[in-house]
Amino acid sequence: TLLTLYILYSGASVSNTGVRVAKSGKREKATFVTLARNQDLYSLASTIKNVEDRFNHQYNYDWVFLNDADFTEEFKEVTSRLVSGTTKYGKVPKEHWSYPEWIDQNKAAETRQKMKEEKVIYGDSVSYRHMCRFESGFFYKHPLLDDYDWYWRVEPDVKFHCDINYDVFRFMRENGKKYGFTISLREYDATIRTLWPTTVKFMNDHPQFIHENNMMDFISDDGGLSYNLCHFWSNFEIGSLDFLRSHAYNSYFDYLDKAGGFFYERWGDAPVHSIAAALFLDRNEIHHFSDIGYYHIPFSACPLDPVTRFEGKCSCNPKQDFTWNGYSCASKFYTVNNMKKPEGWQELA
Ligand code: GDP
Ligand code: MN
Repeated sequence: TLLTLYILYSGASVSNTGVRVAKSGKREKATFVTLARNQDLYSLASTIKNVEDRFNHQYNYDWVFLNDADFTEEFKEVTSRLVSGTTKYGKVPKEHWSYPEWIDQNKAAETRQKMKEEKVIYGDSVSYRHMCRFESGFFYKHPLLDDYDWYWRVEPDVKFHCDINYDVFRFMRENGKKYGFTISLREYDATIRTLWPTTVKFMNDHPQFIHENNMMDFISDDGGLSYNLCHFWSNFEIGSLDFLRSHAYNSYFDYLDKAGGFFYERWGDAPVHSIAAALFLDRNEIHHFSDIGYYHIPFSACPLDPVTRFEGKCSCNPKQDFTWNGYSCASKFYTVNNMKKPEGWQELA
């Protein structure tokens, strides 16, 4: 058959489940991971096609889909058709998407009402809070992720502007990286008022978890007294699952969870992951993917470097790059790490 010929000549193979497996070369133990609802299917489908065209058709990495409800047959059919690696579908266990017993639900309802009046984005949403708590402390505990060392988080409706012509997971491993980001920015203060004081208490109780070469200067401008709200935007993450599985990270998450701020405030998974990365990792383990063109409403990262733009066939307008905008935290990241900013960054600041 044509399929057999394709396999013979391309060196690809089809497993007995009909799933395509990688052509050649050693892949990392890595997967894409997406939390989504069934109604996100078609926003996600175009993103998956984009990720495949820009990157994954060369590597055929797997894709894990998670949902607090059961995925529909349509969801599984459409997504499995688009992904070149194996697709896996998991349901979030109830305990990972509900109120822990120590949470006072009346108190939680009061904050939602208050945040609604103050027009805080997602301030009155219960599901958004479960989502943030899940992405902070549970997605990596799902059994479907047990097979992997690395993850790349993808959300519906995001877009990649440039070809990614190398294996980013291999890059992470070979360069000793544990956490990779594209966009960084400042969090809405109203959503995390007690996150830093809680973090300070945690640091005092567990000083052994703080890395000696940490990146406190990225998240605090006064040596740790206050949080400057800088965080890595977690809708894109390429990271080490071992980092999230670490004793330090899980002690931190459990401490935050006990404090209740996922429900009494509206703590996001982005500041939680970012603060943890900045405190528990060696600063050299955190990587800015300056060559990955990326969009999540309302911001784009668009590489300024002409060689990167040419080699990656980037389709974005560098004048719309958010990375070097005054509200971004990238400039701080480069400054505190003594890194060279790209030609032309000042025109965007
Ligand atoms: P935003 O980026 O902060 O505006 O939040 P999103 O609406 O994009 O949600 C973040 C991620 O969680 C996306 O991948 C969503 O598909 C997913 N998500 C958000 N809420 C829910 C939910 O109630 N159930 C499920 N299964 N996924 C959700
Ligand atoms: Mn989103």
